[in-house]
Amino acid sequence: MLDYSHDDWKSRAAGLSFRGQAFIDGKFVDAASGKTFDSINPATGSVLTPVAECDAEDVSRAVTAARTAFEDGRWSRMAPGDRKAVMLKLADLIRDNLEEMALLDSLDMGKLITDAVTVDAPGSAHFFQWYAEAIDKVYDEVAPTGPGDLALVSRVPLGVVGAVTPWNFPLDMATWKAAAALAAGNSVALKPAEQSPLSALRLAELAAEAGIPDGVFNVVPGFGATAGQALGLHMDVDCLAFTGSTATGKLFMQYSGQSNLKQVWPETGGKSPNLVFADCEDLDAAADMAAFGIFFNQGEVCSANSRLYVERSIKDAFVEKLIARAQAMQPGDPLDPASKMGAIVDEKQTQGIMRFVEDGKKTANLVTGGDRVTVEGKGCFIQPTIFDDVAHDNPLARDEIFGPVLSVIPFDTEDQAVTMANDSVYGLAASVWTDNLSRACRVSDRLMAGTVSVNTVDALSAMTPFGGMKQSGFGRDLSLHSFEKYTALKTTWIKYKA
Ligand code: NAD
Repeated sequence: MLDYSHDDWKSRAAGLSFRGQAFIDGKFVDAASGKTFDSINPATGSVLTPVAECDAEDVSRAVTAARTAFEDGRWSRMAPGDRKAVMLKLADLIRDNLEEMALLDSLDMGKLITDAVTVDAPGSAHFFQWYAEAIDKVYDEVAPTGPGDLALVSRVPLGVVGAVTPWNFPLDMATWKAAAALAAGNSVALKPAEQSPLSALRLAELAAEAGIPDGVFNVVPGFGATAGQALGLHMDVDCLAFTGSTATGKLFMQYSGQSNLKQVWPETGGKSPNLVFADCEDLDAAADMAAFGIFFNQGEVCSANSRLYVERSIKDAFVEKLIARAQAMQPGDPLDPASKMGAIVDEKQTQGIMRFVEDGKKTANLVTGGDRVTVEGKGCFIQPTIFDDVAHDNPLARDEIFGPVLSVIPFDTEDQAVTMANDSVYGLAASVWTDNLSRACRVSDRLMAGTVSVNTVDALSAMTPFGGMKQSGFGRDLSLHSFEKYTALKTTWIKYKA
């Protein structure tokens, strides 16, 4: 696959078939209303397939199936080693269908096929494997109560997990939720973003093929205000794992209060700072990663390093390096392996990004990019864009743009850099570039972010928790810590004759 040409990918895309129905209780079904919406390829504007437009009735069917499966124990009480085997099979099936899974995400939301096939799709297989392998390696506790009392403290699955996911990494966001929730023994009802439901629907089919029993993993595509809200308000959903915008995360907290006090785990927006100090020896590496940190996935990354703070003495030279890198990353057909940036997810997001850019042209110093473009006369594409000398209170420096737009802000002292970096409602990720070890430790310590990457950006692995502080939410995906949100601590206290 890595040696496929543009034509190879185009012909494989043309031969793809799509699943557009909901997946409920082990079967593909239409929405009860019979309604559908179109899944659109943002690179061309063409319709890929109609997709079932699920609403509250379909969500209820999915939750009922999930509850029934949970109660009868077909998955929740399956021996851990058996559950592990099924999930390992699912990881293998994702690998067997890597090309298709990658194409689904690329066509559905515009990401580069080269990223989808090397990052997203293999990542999904890896995360399923990682959680599968964990299933029979996590032990519970016995409290030190003494003779006559045996107090077992165990982690038990919650029941029905509702998952609501965004469009920027459709397969991986579905995976991050489903892999950990299923490994812990829960049943899942997943609502993928309306912009990108196709890979989650295919994932459900592969899960069934791997042996995940009917009703355990359900996918209900649909819109946020209907299907998403119905999951949030459902009285029989025990836990709602959400990734998306901060505004929607706040709604899910309200839905919980209005319904059954379900646990809500929001993983929300970001405006992540990247701090480059003059004592960083390899400024070329820092520039490479600063460009990657904002332009990867068209800047549609929750932890995108969208605020770049550079020490004033090196700022101009560093910006020159960045401009060169940005100009080498012009958007192209996502299916062309030579393209360095793909399409923006849809028309609405493209227009929203361009509003920031147009306002920015009046308030900051545009040094490269700044235009919406087409590829072969079509599609939603925006040039990699850099604004220099952005005032710290400019919306360019404060709001999550969620597109390929970088704001550069100079600083004079370490304290000033940290203060500005922390002056944000968000706290998802941060990066620091310095070869001074004490400074690296000092600054990392002070940065209010769920992940601080030193001399790299966006460090991430199945082994480490991912999530935020402040209004970036408080849920954590990945690592064994993810089990904390999909399980309850249960004490079983046994009296015996000592
Ligand atoms: P969004 O909040 O608009 O949508 C996310 C999901 O919520 C979608 O499935 C959508 O249908 C649903 N939704 C929307 N409105 C709803 C409502 N009223 N009630 C119930 N559900 C509703 O976000 P988006 O535009 O899809 O994704 C971009 C956002 O996601 C960005 O803010 C980004 O930072 C964030 N994100 C965060 C992380 C993280 O791990 N912290 C990862 C990826 C993306």
